[in-house]
Formats: sequence, structure tokens, C-alpha cells
Amino acid sequence: MSVFGIGPAGEHLVRFAVVAGDKGHVCSKNGCGAVMGAKRLKAVAVTRGRHTVAVYDKDRLREKAKALLQDAKEAKNGQLYKWGTGGSFSIHALAGSLPVRNYTTNLFPDHEKLNAAYIRAHFEHRDKACWACGLVHTKYMKVTEGPYTGYEGEEPEYECMAAWGPVIGNTDPGALVMLTDVTDRLGLDVNEAGWVIGWAMECYAKDLLTRQDLDGVELGWGNVEAVKTLLEKISRREGVGNLLAEG
Ligand code: SF4
Repeated sequence: MSVFGIGPAGEHLVRFAVVAGDKGHVCSKNGCGAVMGAKRLKAVAVTRGRHTVAVYDKDRLREKAKALLQDAKEAKNGQLYKWGTGGSFSIHALAGSLPVRNYTTNLFPDHEKLNAAYIRAHFEHRDKACWACGLVHTKYMKVTEGPYTGYEGEEPEYECMAAWGPVIGNTDPGALVMLTDVTDRLGLDVNEAGWVIGWAMECYAKDLLTRQDLDGVELGWGNVEAVKTLLEKISRREGVGNLLAEG
């Protein structure tokens, strides 16, 4: 059975709520989760039919599929196959195109602690691909060092790495896995969530938003627990979360 559904963010009509499905794959842009929430539609489930699809030439199809998979494995020097989308993280850091501290700088000397090569070498992980995909670019992992040791969740994709690493000034890879998992479970789009929180952090650093404005949350750069608290508030439109839920 395939199930796609919304979390608290969709139920509370957060403008960047997602529809998430099949244990970790997300339809994330333009608030489609809020559209389902507005219709009070929690989830759609589809069961597999009993009929097979007729194939005219099975051998030829198999041959073509094999060639396509090989092509995908070798694309961009095999970067996606070997490292997933996180393979480009350090490339962005060295090219000066990483979003750091809400784009106030592009310098991020700690990039090698957050990239895919690091987290795959240090954290326990296993394959977790979409159904029938031979490229298997996604993993499920367990944090094995730092304050979030033992935390389990999906391997962060590049956009999660950017949002919950440099954008918010975090350099702990375990916290990156934790915040990625929290974002998914609440049903929020990671791009917009990262940009909103990064913007709020810069406002806080410049005294444009105070602790009082943020319901007592200390939103200093790199405070990952404060980020988690705000994500939870956004997903339920609680306090300042109601403002930030507008994106
Ligand atoms: S490459 Fe495979 S595992 Fe990665 S998103 Fe595409 S179908 Fe899913």
C-alpha cells in the first residue's frame, strides 16, 4: 500500500506544509499540504492492484532499463550514486555558494563535518530507496557521535544540509539529522522552514525580534533546540509560530 498524508503543519494550514508519503518521500512545494488540510483530507492510500501491466517485449525493456540505470549511476562522475545529493555540499562551500547565516556570509569552514562523505563515514546507515529504484541514493541513519547520539532518521538531502547547517549556523551533523527528521515528521517544507528560521535568527541577532517576541525562545545562531521548538510552534501555529507559518 502506498500512503501520502499530511502532518500537523498541513492540518494547521501552514503555508509551506507538505504531503509526505511512502516513509520519507515528500511533495514539498507551494503548500500542497495546506491544500489537503483546508479540505480536511488527512491522507490518500492506494493499494496495489492484482492485474499486471502487459509488456510487449520484456527482454528489450529490461535491456533499456539496465542501460538507463547505468547512465544514471555514472552521471556527474557518479556523484549522486556514491553520495546522494549531499555530495554537492562541500562543492557549494568551496564555490562560495552555500547560504550561511541567512546569507549574511558565504564562508563556512566547517563544511567537511556536515557533508555526505562525513556522515556516511561516521554514522550507521542503510539503504532506503524509493520503491524499485536501483540508484538507491537515499539512506536511513543512526547518529553515532555528539549530543544526538542514538537519534535515527533519514539521511539529510542537500537542501536539509543547507537549511539545518549553514543557514542557521549549526556545525553538528547529529543535530542536522535530528532537525531534518523533525521537519519531516511535522510536515514542513525544509527549504521554506530553513529560510524562515534563518530570517528570524538574523532579526534576533540584530535586535529586530526580541526574546519576548519569540515567546521566550533564545534564537542565537546555532541553537538547534530553539530551532526545534520554533518548528513545533510553526506546525501548530502556536504563539509566534502563527506569524512564521505565513512563510
Ligand atoms: S534516485 Fe531513486 S531513491 Fe533517489 S529519489 Fe530517485 S527514485 Fe528515489
